[in-house]
Amino acid sequence: MMHLAFLVLLCLPVCSAYPLSGAAKQEDSNRDLAQQYLENYYNLKTDVKQFRRKESNLIVKKIQQMQKFLGLAATGKLDSDTLEVMRKPRCGVPDVGHFHTFPGIPKWRKTHLTYRIVNYTPDLPKDAVDSAIEKAVKVWEEVTPLTFSRLYEGEADIMISFAVKEHGDFYSFDGSGHSLAHAYPPGPGLYGDIHFDDDENWTEDASGTNLFLVAAHELGHSLGLFHSANTEALMYPLYNSFTELTRFRLSQDDVNGIQSLYGPPPASTEEPLVPTKSVPSGSRTPAKCDPALSFDAISTLRGEYLFFKDRYFWRRSHWNSEPEFHLISTFWPSLPSCLDAAYEVNSRDTVFIFKGNEFWAIRGNEVQAGYPRGIHTLGFPPTIRKIDAAVSDKEKKKTYFFVEDKYWRFDENSQSMEQGFPRLIADDFPGVEPKVDAVLQAFGFFYFFSGSSQFEFDPNARMVTRILKSNSWLHC
Ligand SMILES: [Zn+2]
Ligand SMILES: [Zn+2]
Repeated sequence: MMHLAFLVLLCLPVCSAYPLSGAAKQEDSNRDLAQQYLENYYNLKTDVKQFRRKESNLIVKKIQQMQKFLGLAATGKLDSDTLEVMRKPRCGVPDVGHFHTFPGIPKWRKTHLTYRIVNYTPDLPKDAVDSAIEKAVKVWEEVTPLTFSRLYEGEADIMISFAVKEHGDFYSFDGSGHSLAHAYPPGPGLYGDIHFDDDENWTEDASGTNLFLVAAHELGHSLGLFHSANTEALMYPLYNSFTELTRFRLSQDDVNGIQSLYGPPPASTEEPLVPTKSVPSGSRTPAKCDPALSFDAISTLRGEYLFFKDRYFWRRSHWNSEPEFHLISTFWPSLPSCLDAAYEVNSRDTVFIFKGNEFWAIRGNEVQAGYPRGIHTLGFPPTIRKIDAAVSDKEKKKTYFFVEDKYWRFDENSQSMEQGFPRLIADDFPGVEPKVDAVLQAFGFFYFFSGSSQFEFDPNARMVTRILKSNSWLHC
């Protein structure tokens, strides 16, 4: 059963031969809270029993992953800010890892969907529940080609119900507070369905838990969205009671996410965002917030990110700073435009740039002597004329080259192409669309860019964890 991976039953032996002091008890309960949180939402495997070992690297990494995702300082420590966030009410869907194990993209393969309100909470009049759900549906209807109709009997795509504690799936609710609701990604049966924890006090306003806000968030999951680390987004996993309800609107992050799955609503496709569509690529200036934006190549460079497009590149220094936009020739006059691939090898402080059957090495803003060289000097067979994308795994010291639906792996230590390659992208990176434009490694994930979509791939879980718009890195 695919849900078993998340069936989290904590059986931690909290045995101590010594009476615990108050402080030690508090520390133990904090660790228990953290362990449960990381298991529930960050895919910490329950068989990892090293939580109580101080030097557990895995736990520190998981705490950091959680801190980064939720916008905290990534200290890897259970500090008071972190524990406070762990106690906040939130969505029951994990932030990392899946409710499901389907490879590929969970999305509805049709544009007309049905929903049914199966039962009601005693907290609100029925028509208040009906209108909260209807309003939540409209939030997504407005920005997509999707249409919804309500069923009053039979099986709808999205079955909406209120339940407490154990309620027939593998995710029991936990009483008042903490987990508020959960929803399943698109698919048959249970998939697409939304469950609200009826131990919450559901309200129309912000005095309790606002039903409309939680319903709109859960519907995002029902349509195929995962959690966003953007604190402004509706798909951020923590419940935000301060949102001004009367002026609620989706963040650009939510809109980008859902439109990467279903596209914009039909009306807006008739108004081209870029009026010069007929102008060939390369002669117009790319716009960073063009929803159709794709990249030629992406690399890191001494802690920054470089996004190449035509004759230009965006340079992003930190997560929150506005990206700079430059001509490639301003920094590296001898480099070509319309690159194929780029990657950094940290240990050599070098970025390698690929176009056609040649590649260049740059350090800072200097192109190194002796380049360009032919790509066949790296060990590619003569049939390969160009590569699509490349990324160098900084920890493992392996560089991956993607060509159409296959990839090669290059060992940076031995400076040679590894035996047994090429392999199929689909076999080792399930869910990633082949024909990759660019790849980036960050936060322990690989980000595969394919057209205007981006696949966040967890190499440990070997699955796509989120699908984003390609330009989500450029603050659109
Ligand atoms: Zn959620
Ligand atoms: Zn449930």
